[in-house]
Amino acid sequence: GQCRAVCPTGAISINTNIEVIWEALADKNVKVIAQIAPAVRVAVGDAFGLARGENVMGKIVNVMHRMGFDEVYDTAYGADLTVMEESKELLERLTSGEKLPLFTSCCPAWVSYCESHYPELVDHISTCRSPMQMFGAVMQEYYKEPKKNGGKQILSVAVMPCTAKKAEILRGESKTDGKQDVDYVLTTTELITMIKKTGIRFENLDIESSDMPFGIGSGAGIIFGNTGGVTEAVLRRLTDGHNRSDMDRIRHSGVRGEEGIKELTFPYKDREIRAAVVSGLGNADELIKRIKSGEAEYDFVEVMACHRGCVMGGGQPVQAGPRTRAARAKGLYDTDINTQIKKSNENPLTVTLYNTLLKGKEHKLLHRNME
Ligand code: SF4
Repeated sequence: GQCRAVCPTGAISINTNIEVIWEALADKNVKVIAQIAPAVRVAVGDAFGLARGENVMGKIVNVMHRMGFDEVYDTAYGADLTVMEESKELLERLTSGEKLPLFTSCCPAWVSYCESHYPELVDHISTCRSPMQMFGAVMQEYYKEPKKNGGKQILSVAVMPCTAKKAEILRGESKTDGKQDVDYVLTTTELITMIKKTGIRFENLDIESSDMPFGIGSGAGIIFGNTGGVTEAVLRRLTDGHNRSDMDRIRHSGVRGEEGIKELTFPYKDREIRAAVVSGLGNADELIKRIKSGEAEYDFVEVMACHRGCVMGGGQPVQAGPRTRAARAKGLYDTDINTQIKKSNENPLTVTLYNTLLKGKEHKLLHRNME
């Protein structure tokens, strides 16, 4: 195909899947579907001389189409599904009073750390799949239809800021009916390598919108890439209002900022939700110690293994000083400001999906398969 001209030869590295993805892109019998995590879009531009932290999602979509990806979707949409399910789970646990605090499950490095260091807390981890895995399962279900797959094999690729995501896709609980939902994870750095191999002047590319029907994520889904983003998104979901003052109240609740441990309380109906936001596993240890000693009590705890969250993930370009770190976080918050839909439950695509493809399959496709 068209991509042959830009395919590298001999650019094989044992730890990456770059070569097998180039092959799939050149194969007319394979439909290659990609999803792009929020944090990726604010870490690619500076590799091509663009401003640090600039959201270059539009250029990423364009270059990936040119590379031969058939559809390029937004993981922020998967994050919206996560917000829906995780908020529901939190309310159920608040009602029953069981397995509190609820720990988030989006970060696979945290999930495996908890399994090995705190097996007694594993029950507290949300049963939700991560945004990447929710999206992967929904996507596979969607492309089952011959009309949608056009008789081609589907290859699902996730572009992630994270090396731990490469292990997450292999876990038994990440599979649906025994089949892996995401075939390969490419890190941001690997995507940059692939773009450079094409010889395309990325910095000069026009922007393109991500593909439908999974191309719109709410602002809440976008901020998942920053520490505190999941909590902020859940609080938005649990808040009835949706105007600027409602959003500002949540934003100033203590959920933002790059501190390793943040604590906040947020009014919900006739009670308060007590939340903690942690980034860095050392900070998670410290918080768990406080919880165990009874010194602190929470309803909801967000844990991201990387300091500052996924914008500083191990799959992102590593040379990132304080200005780059701040610019990436700002890049995501600015994107949220520019997004009309702030709340996951107001994303029309989410609403449609629950009434169609997801009907009766929420548990199967959106929750971890624990058997
Ligand atoms: Fe991956 Fe780090 Fe994000 Fe966890 S916090 S999902 S390890 S990038």
